[in-house]
Amino acid sequence: TKPIIALDGPAGAGKSTVSRRLARELGYVYLDTGAMYRAITWLVMENNINVEDEESIASLVANVQLELLPSDNLQIPVTVKINGQDITKEIRTPRVTNQVSKVAAQSAVREKMVALQQEYGAKGGIVAEGRDIGTNVFPHAQLKIFLTATPQARAKRRLIDLQNQGESNIDLDTLIKEIEERDYLDSTRAIAPLKKAEDAIELITDNLTIDQVIEKIKSYLIL
Ligand code: C5P
Repeated sequence: TKPIIALDGPAGAGKSTVSRRLARELGYVYLDTGAMYRAITWLVMENNINVEDEESIASLVANVQLELLPSDNLQIPVTVKINGQDITKEIRTPRVTNQVSKVAAQSAVREKMVALQQEYGAKGGIVAEGRDIGTNVFPHAQLKIFLTATPQARAKRRLIDLQNQGESNIDLDTLIKEIEERDYLDSTRAIAPLKKAEDAIELITDNLTIDQVIEKIKSYLIL
């Protein structure tokens, strides 16, 4: 079977761009697990459920139908449908981004998402990105990469992403605070927190281009 490549790290370290391009170059499937947690968060908010209401959220995810389809737009990692509705744009709004960590911390949500992710990767030949891929979803992945960068560098990248999506009224300091808050919640939650797997290779991307990161990762991959 073809290998599994696990890419973890905090928001804005370059995971999406790197994983997606790597998957395309290798002819592998690309799995954006953050998009799944974002989709559930959108659905929770759409149903006017409180993001801390674990019981209601658990029954919501029990019957959810989630589809991730390849996107042909370079700015958009993946096309996402939930219960048949296309919410590709909605899941990237600040409204969802600022609440997603609270929903992603819940056991019912994680159990369901991890099971779906493991189904996706069952045949190998996948580049999966997230927070707990190397530690929890695919602990036997052949290659594990942990991508990081300073909050400043990550916030700058997020700013460019958001501007590309047509959001103009955002300042860098607010983004730095939001990123630090999300890192804090993601790395301190009880279940499968954001953490470098012991056998992951850490790459600090502040001063690396996307091409350099991809070249490095390919050099670690023994096919
Ligand atoms: O990667 P992205 O920024 O889209 O992830 C959104 C959120 O989804 C993260 O901040 C985190 O709370 C959650 N997430 C997670 N586990 C993953 C991927 C994402 O908890 N494997």
